This record gives sequence, structure tokens and C-alpha cells, in this order.
Amino acid sequence: MTQEELFKKLVAHCKEYGFVFPSSEIYDGLGAVYDYGQNGVELKNNIKRYWWDSMVKLHENIVGLDAAIFMHPKTWEASGHVGAFNDPLIDNKDSKKRYRADVLIEDWLAKQDEKIDKEVEKARKRFGEAFDEAQYRATSPRVLETATKRDEVHTRFADALNANDLNELRQIILDCEIVCPISGTRNWTEVRQFNLMFSTQMGSTAEGANTIYLRPETAQGIFVNFLNVQKTGRMKLPFGIAQIGKAFRNEIVARQFIFRMREFEQMEMQFFVRPGTEMEWWNKWKETRMAWHRALGFGDENYRFHDHDKLAHYANAATDVEYNFPFGFKEVEGIHSRTDFDLSNHQKFSGKKIQYYDPETNESYVPYVVETSIGVDRMFLQVMSAAYTEEKLEGGDQRIVLKFPAALAPIKVAVLPLVKKDGMPEVARKIVDELKYDYNVVYDEKDSVGKRYRRQDAIGTPFCVTVDGQTLEDGTVTVRHRDTMQQERVKIEQLRAMVDEACSYRTLFKKLSL
Ligand code: ATP
Repeated sequence: MTQEELFKKLVAHCKEYGFVFPSSEIYDGLGAVYDYGQNGVELKNNIKRYWWDSMVKLHENIVGLDAAIFMHPKTWEASGHVGAFNDPLIDNKDSKKRYRADVLIEDWLAKQDEKIDKEVEKARKRFGEAFDEAQYRATSPRVLETATKRDEVHTRFADALNANDLNELRQIILDCEIVCPISGTRNWTEVRQFNLMFSTQMGSTAEGANTIYLRPETAQGIFVNFLNVQKTGRMKLPFGIAQIGKAFRNEIVARQFIFRMREFEQMEMQFFVRPGTEMEWWNKWKETRMAWHRALGFGDENYRFHDHDKLAHYANAATDVEYNFPFGFKEVEGIHSRTDFDLSNHQKFSGKKIQYYDPETNESYVPYVVETSIGVDRMFLQVMSAAYTEEKLEGGDQRIVLKFPAALAPIKVAVLPLVKKDGMPEVARKIVDELKYDYNVVYDEKDSVGKRYRRQDAIGTPFCVTVDGQTLEDGTVTVRHRDTMQQERVKIEQLRAMVDEACSYRTLFKKLSL
């Protein structure tokens, strides 16, 4: 199965099992907008809880906030979004499809890396044991030719982005002979800037109306509340403010399911520090956030850092945490050193002093900010991609199982009476009642037990508990484990402790060493 086929199956699975539906589907959907179904909303909430608690509960110096989506329009002038929150777009005149010019070039660069990796793999097979990868990469003429060309284009690309040189971006696309994947032609328009903010009107009449924006990031709600939180919470630097909320971007290209949406959710934490200490904190947060991702157990090799070629208008250092999606390594989270750009500009635009009095140095100053910013939906797709597994079973059967970390699973336990009689449903109901105050538990009595197991595998339920004849005699049940499919006999009184041990967030948090 190709990675593309795998991704298609994953999208279909999300719909079939109540995780993600296209928005307003009965009207044929709305571009890059999605709804979360009965299982999706649980997974999403669990991801949010994992993030929120790891920030707010486990750090004494991080507190939460829930700011409004609408903000005073001046906010977005001060933040630079009105002037600079743009993506370079390019159209193919034959297919009439629109692309992000930077993404076309980034994909071309990634292809060159793949080409080199393929050469290396071929050589490894050819030379066997004696293969010296470093030497091969340094001397193979074919590898060197591709690498030199790649590096040249990469330098041109970074320069063009930093100089905002749209003509040069177009020239790179032409020079690299990048074609439109739909029409296959190189009939490109000019490159234009496109502002990503959605706007709407506030006020009762159109004449008196004020244009306001749907926030494109949650961070500004934190910046404008910096002093409110610092003063009322008597916070001392360094400290952080965490927030989860909706953000909106009129993305030019929105083709990768929930990877790039027009309405999405962000989990952002702004960490305020003394000027001059920001690089130290940036490095610390890189480490902390990577540990958070890796604790989920999806394989350390599937995560990497990718430093930005072009720094955003507010940043002096920026890196992405990338995950190895079925469509390649892509950004899940950004970790940015935002300097004092935002607070200073809000100070300027509002005419209000936004400073911190540092009792240790006896000075007042505008703090610097290190931010961690992750998309809930993108994280959802990451977890889904990592968890989705197709397995061949003995006897030629196949199963699809979502191997979620137990704490994130939408449903923790399915309780199944073997048959619908002899008092088994009653005992099963009692078990549900015992567990339901702490966990999402389902009761299922339809179809064979085998079929019921498959249904739970497909939504990632860690435990299936079967009530059978023996239960009525000795008070034990069969517990079937999702990943190993192994079964064991457990006393009903021990179930709670067992589920607790496996599904509690404690297991994840302990790996973070916070
Ligand atoms: P990209 O380069 O992919 O457009 P970005 O660098 O603009 O993303 P940030 O502004 O750093 O993204 O946003 C922080 C995080 O918010 C991203 O790492 C991503 O997880 C999430 N995010 C951003 N845009 C979207 C979107 N359109 N849909 C879903 N999640 C998004």
C-alpha cells in the first residue's frame, strides 16, 4: 500500500467511525472546514487535556486564559497581521488551480532529498556490509550533483523569502521546472501576496460598522491581557500564559484533510522572560515540547526539528516540530522566540504602558516572549496517522485497530455480555455503572463477541470486558487487550484499578519528568 492510499483509507476511516465529517456535508461540504463526530470530539478533548494539564497543572509558573475571538481591530495592526500576514500565491492557468508558491518550492526541495536517500539506499544494497554512507554521500557524483542543485535552490529560496521577492519565487519555480500536479504544465501566473485574515462587520448598520477580524492566532489575546494576568495573579518572571481556542485563516490551498483548515483550534503558551535570556528558554521549551510528543510512544524517529528559512515578522528564532505523516515530515508545532515585538507594539498602538517591574534588578522593562504553538486538529491528525494500523490475523482475517495511547482513547472500556440472557446483561450494566463516573464506557450486546471486538478495535478502545457464565459463578470477567488481543481473567473488583493504571494521564506525565 502506498502512503497515499494509506492516507485515503485513514480519511475514510475517520468518517466511517464517527471521528471527522466534512462540514455541512448535506450541502456538499465547505472547503477545509470539518466537524468532529462522537469519537472525534472525545479524542480531541483528551488531546487538549494532555496539553493543558502538562502546561498549567505541572508548571507552577504557567496559568490559563480564555480570551474572546473578536478583538479590537487595532490589535491586528499592532501585531503586524494587517500588513504582513500574507502567503505568496500562484495560479496555474491551465488547471485554474491555486498554489502557495513557497510550498511548491519546499516540495521540490523535499523531492531532491528523497532522490538522494534513494541513491544511498540503492548503494547500500549494492555494497552490502562494506558500505560507508558518509563517504558515499561525500563522493558519489550523482548524489553530489543533486545536493549541489538542491543547496543552490535552497539558498535562492531563503533569500527570496527574506527579501519578499515574489518575482524571484516565480523564477525559481520556472527554473526548477515545477509543474502543476493537475494539468502537468508550467503555465504559471505571477506570484501575488494574499492576506489570510477573515474579516467581518461589527455594529448594527453597515455604515457605522467597524471591520473586525476573526483572530488568525490565539496569541494576541494573551499579549493584550499580559498585565491583567501578571498583576491579578501576582506573577513573577519568568512565567507563562496558556490558552486553547479557535483561530481562522483563509488558507490559499486546503487539500490535506484536517492538516490545513480554515477554521481550526490552537493550543498556545506564551512564556514571558527577562530580555537576554530568551535563547536559553527557547532551547528549554524545544526540549520540553519534544518530550511531550515523544511520551506518546509513536517512535522517536518519527519526530524532528526543522528550523525556519524565513523568520516571521516578530521572531528572532523559530523551529518546528515535524512529524512523519503519510505525506512526509510536516509541521505539527512551532516554537518561536518572539522578542518583545508584540508587547512593545501594543504599548505603542494603545498608548498604555506594558512593562514589568523586576524586583530583582530594580528595573522596568518589556518582557521577551518564547511561544509554543500547536494546532489541536493537526495534532489529532498526527495521533490518528500514528495509531492507524492494519493487521493480518491468523486464519486470513484482517483487522483495523487504532493504537491510541490509552489516556487519549475516546472510549476506555467496552462491556460485553456474552449472551443477552441468564443475568449477564444485568452484571454488565453494573460494571458500566461502576466505571462510568471516571471513564467513557460503552455497553454492547449486539452481534458475536468477535464482531464486537472489531468494532472497538476500529475506534481504539483499550479494554473489552466480557461477562460470561463463569462471571455469574466466581465474579471474574474476561479482559481482552486491544493491541496484543490477549485475554485474561480478572476479578470485577480489580477492574477499576486496572483501567486506572493504564488510562490515567499520570502514565504520560511521568515520562515528561516535570
Ligand atoms: P504553515 O506553515 O503550515 O502554514 P504556520 O507556520 O503558519 O503553518 P503557525 O502560525 O506557527 O503555523 O501556527 C502554529 C500551529 O498552528 C501550527 O504548527 C499548526 O499546528 C497549527 N496551524 C496553523 N495553521 C493551521 C491550519 N490552517 N489548519 C490547522 N492547523 C493549523
